[in-house]
Amino acid sequence: MEFVIEKKKIDKWLDDLKKDFKVIDIRGKALPAKQYFLPPKQKTFVFNKKTKKLSCPEYKKEFLVFGLGLADLEAMTQLDEIMEKPYSDFFYWQKRNKSLIIGLVDESIEVAPGGDVILEKITDQQYRALILTDKGKAIIKDEFFDKKDKPSIKNYPQPDNPFKRMLLDSELLAEAVKWSLNHKIWDKLGEQCLGCGICTYVCPLCHCFSIEDQVSLDNKECSRCRQWDACTLPEFSKVAGGHNFHKTIKQRYYNWFYHKFVRAYHEYGKSQCVACGRCRENCPAGIKISEVLKEIVDDYKKHLSAI
Ligand code: SF4
Ligand code: SF4
Repeated sequence: MEFVIEKKKIDKWLDDLKKDFKVIDIRGKALPAKQYFLPPKQKTFVFNKKTKKLSCPEYKKEFLVFGLGLADLEAMTQLDEIMEKPYSDFFYWQKRNKSLIIGLVDESIEVAPGGDVILEKITDQQYRALILTDKGKAIIKDEFFDKKDKPSIKNYPQPDNPFKRMLLDSELLAEAVKWSLNHKIWDKLGEQCLGCGICTYVCPLCHCFSIEDQVSLDNKECSRCRQWDACTLPEFSKVAGGHNFHKTIKQRYYNWFYHKFVRAYHEYGKSQCVACGRCRENCPAGIKISEVLKEIVDDYKKHLSAI
């Protein structure tokens, strides 16, 4: 039995869900869904000077993030894994456990990449619900979904994406990026990159943060906050005493790649990239990660064949 919703009923369904959840519709938003679970800035605990007590802000409200595409659903599944292994991230899971994730996908799905429910386009006017969790099952209401034994299903092929294809061989990417440490491309990118950190902020998988203590203006409380950080920023690798492990942009940009394609492969068995394209679209220097990777992989293959 399939649950099918008419395209025109989707917004009505979302309005109905607002009775029980805070609904966040991310269709057309530039920042990825990670911002709702790992916010750009977040208090981890607060010290009250008068009561001398520590408190930890607690997140209680259930919320629902709607409108993730295939790449973003895959990124959320990977981010869950990163935030669980090797240590479970309390603040991330506090929000994640209160949330539901609903995908909206206009292409035919071969393997559901994650989320609680995915609405998959099956005709120009209809989507079927792929229900992946019990929480997802609970929000599929008869009022909005028709039960059908064999709905008509059209094929909407996913557009061919050579970058995505390249990501399938994460072992090769890990070897190639590791090998490329002395490749001339990093000199070129060291001059081209502005070290602005935007690629990291917009990436659905970058998750590095820094910790900072802040005192309120009235001096009544002190909060420990964590906030997004980016390995391309100059202060990222600076340690006590002033030593900076990655002084140059070239070193920092290589480190971004190393983390995504080498360390991630060794720690999680895959690259931390889902080819969403946000870093390319938002880079003020016009750097295209897919082209950088292609050049490295092509040269690595030439190097292997010359041995
Ligand atoms: S394409 Fe860029 S922004 Fe998107 S997942 Fe890959 S590295 Fe992150
Ligand atoms: S967005 Fe572009 S310019 Fe900014 S740090 Fe990333 S690669 Fe460099």
